[in-house]
Amino acid sequence: MAIRLNIAALGGVGMTSARTRARLVERLKAQGIAHSAVLAAMAEVPRHGFIDEALAHKAYDDLSLPIGFGQTISQPYIVARMTELAMGAAQHEKVLEIGTGCGYQTTVLALLFKTVYSIERIGGLHKAARERLSVLGVHNARLRHADGSKGLPDAAPFDVIIITAAAPILPEDMLPQLNLGGRLIFPVGEAEQELRQIERTCEGFVETRLEKVNFVPLLPGTV
Ligand code: SAH
Repeated sequence: MAIRLNIAALGGVGMTSARTRARLVERLKAQGIAHSAVLAAMAEVPRHGFIDEALAHKAYDDLSLPIGFGQTISQPYIVARMTELAMGAAQHEKVLEIGTGCGYQTTVLALLFKTVYSIERIGGLHKAARERLSVLGVHNARLRHADGSKGLPDAAPFDVIIITAAAPILPEDMLPQLNLGGRLIFPVGEAEQELRQIERTCEGFVETRLEKVNFVPLLPGTV
């Protein structure tokens, strides 16, 4: 793994929750997640440290949970699924995440990629994620408070771009920010959403339509 997390910094629950995370990993396997490094990362990241203490007892259920500001932490299955798709890219040097939220997926990606860039439009979430990742020792993530709806041209190209909020239409501006062999993984739609992947190949961009999903909307501007 690219980094080691300082789980002890979260306090005593870290150790006992390792068993609970092992059960989460068994469930992810039963749901079809097969990539061993992805499963290892899901076993490593203490999801309870990313949500309010009052909800911590639900941290390892396969649920999305509120993180404040009307936003949610994605359910573990979808984080594992998108990360597994990301690992199918030709290289694992630079990944861009749009929608840091609480920083959970950022941390999973930080274990698997050399550098993670992550953009969040809500200042309060960005700040809290920055503090949390610093405590955990995630030093290979670069967090920005900005509108990520056009990607991050000044740090491009990326091996993977993951969007964790749904746009009504395909975010075309991000395609030129992909390396050859790179992948854009994103939910698209409004009431009905679908997960999609676009891969940059020698012959051009190849789109694959995946399962139905349910994400918060990708919104313009910063707050
Ligand atoms: N990756 C997170 C999911 C957070 S939910 C996880 O691990 O659970 C999606 C996040 O996308 C929200 O925090 C929302 O504020 C953010 N978001 C929505 N539109 C955005 C935009 N245009 N730029 C950056 N972040 C955005």
